Amino acid sequence: MATPSLTATDLRRALGWLGARADDLRRAAEAALGRNHVRIGVTGLSGAGKSVFTTSLVHALAHASAHPASMPLFSGALGARGWDATIEPLDGLPPFPQSANVAGLLADPPRWPEPTSSLCGLRVRLVHRGDAAREVRIDIVDYPGEWLLDLELLRLDYAAWSAAALARLQAPGSPAAEPSGIWLGQALGAASDAAAADRLVGAYGGLLAHLRDHGLRHLQPGRLLVPDGVAQATAPAPLPAALDGTALHAAMAERFDRYCSEIVEPFYREHFAQLDRQIVLFDVIGALARGPAVFADTQSALTSVLASFRYRSIPWLDWLRARIDRVLVVATKVDHVTTSQYLNVRQLIADRFEPTDWANAIAEDRIRFDVVASIRATLDGWIRQDGAQRAAIQGVLKQRGGALRLLVPSDVPPKAPEASAWPEGGFVYVDFAPPALSAFADRPFPNVNLDKALDYLVGDRLR
Ligand code: GDP
Repeated sequence: MATPSLTATDLRRALGWLGARADDLRRAAEAALGRNHVRIGVTGLSGAGKSVFTTSLVHALAHASAHPASMPLFSGALGARGWDATIEPLDGLPPFPQSANVAGLLADPPRWPEPTSSLCGLRVRLVHRGDAAREVRIDIVDYPGEWLLDLELLRLDYAAWSAAALARLQAPGSPAAEPSGIWLGQALGAASDAAAADRLVGAYGGLLAHLRDHGLRHLQPGRLLVPDGVAQATAPAPLPAALDGTALHAAMAERFDRYCSEIVEPFYREHFAQLDRQIVLFDVIGALARGPAVFADTQSALTSVLASFRYRSIPWLDWLRARIDRVLVVATKVDHVTTSQYLNVRQLIADRFEPTDWANAIAEDRIRFDVVASIRATLDGWIRQDGAQRAAIQGVLKQRGGALRLLVPSDVPPKAPEASAWPEGGFVYVDFAPPALSAFADRPFPNVNLDKALDYLVGDRLR
């Protein structure tokens, strides 16, 4: 009888599983001693607002106890005495630049933080003011959503992934169709050897960066967008079926397998598997502003990112994500529209998920949809237009010399419109500079719904 043989990958998975179980036991013991620990992942596709969100959330956690009235929906969890907060580095991860980000926001003129381009994190240690033995450690891990998109690769072989990736790029009407056609021509004319594979991957990385700069988000492999030497040495590029059976195809397929086992799987085991709670940020308003093709692409990327939390087709992933018991999906930068539109923005992200696979998770409150402005850069106002009063917003424009403007942003549709029903002239929203924040050095920054987000993510651990 044949004995099943263990591969190095099986062993790595088994060790990862044991590590996670040992960690569970340690946490249970700590909880019994009054020390609580929760690890929160913050993710979202490039430009979704991760860096601003994490900065503002941590600043709010640090100062909410002194200013409970500014976080009404979180003040119940903080209790009457409140908590003293310290910000610490997180073992094994590059530090999230919290103090540099806060300094930039407090400066005159204020600056938005640099975007998140790689994995980083910090710990907020809260000690109860009435009982120093009560301590809660909140770990916050910020990572690019593009890395979660790569999970799809684990379910496919190289040929199937190539076909899916190329079909997306070549979809009629996609802004990717023309530039990816040029790249495909290059691939079809390439020499058939490993050196050609290196060159093609370099060119493909350039194509992905170009498409990202034009607003597309469903781009793989994600690590080609966050240049780091290791991932680039193994990342594959998709090839057309016409090249099946060539040495070039074989070299790319080998890269694909190495990328999955050396880059994608370890990320899940070592980082994703350690998370208890997850927040997924989605710039739905920015995607609407970029037109129907970009909007559809961003929605498909979000669907794929969210699938990471419910994959059942990869058994070993099931225990990986089993630990995450709350997922908060939020539309960011909601201060780009008037308050009257918030419900529609929420509906627009929830609409895609509520009726089908997510029904149980929603009913059990394991997933929630909401809207957030991590830092509120606009104020509500009114404009008289065509003889009528119209709700408007006022803020300092990010571009065009930073002028203060009062304007009426487009209404937000509660459901994704068909491309053919897209309004003439599109949906118009503009970016704003951060407001003057020097008065907020020791109090939560002005925001929308951060208190609600904090209550969902950590409130139960403080009560
Ligand atoms: P990341 O790539 O996901 O880390 O995105 P960032 O956090 O760097 O955010 C990208 C940009 O979005 C920022 O530079 C701001 O212009 C804008 N932004 C992010 N959050 C907010 C917000 O709460 N309000 C407003 N008005 N703009 C925001």
